[in-house]
Amino acid sequence: MKRERSVRYEICVICGKEWNVPKDLRLPPSGYICPHCSSKERSRDRGGAT
Ligand SMILES: [Zn+2]
Repeated sequence: MKRERSVRYEICVICGKEWNVPKDLRLPPSGYICPHCSSKERSRDRGGAT
């Protein structure tokens, strides 16, 4: 028997990978951003123009 927790899969809008997130997680309107990408974005703060 396998224990299934209340999780679901969401696709990160940045890296496009599937991540399992808590079922009750609220997604921002812009879509799910995984912890990995959100920390990346944070360090990027206000960069220069590309
Ligand atoms: Zn990501």
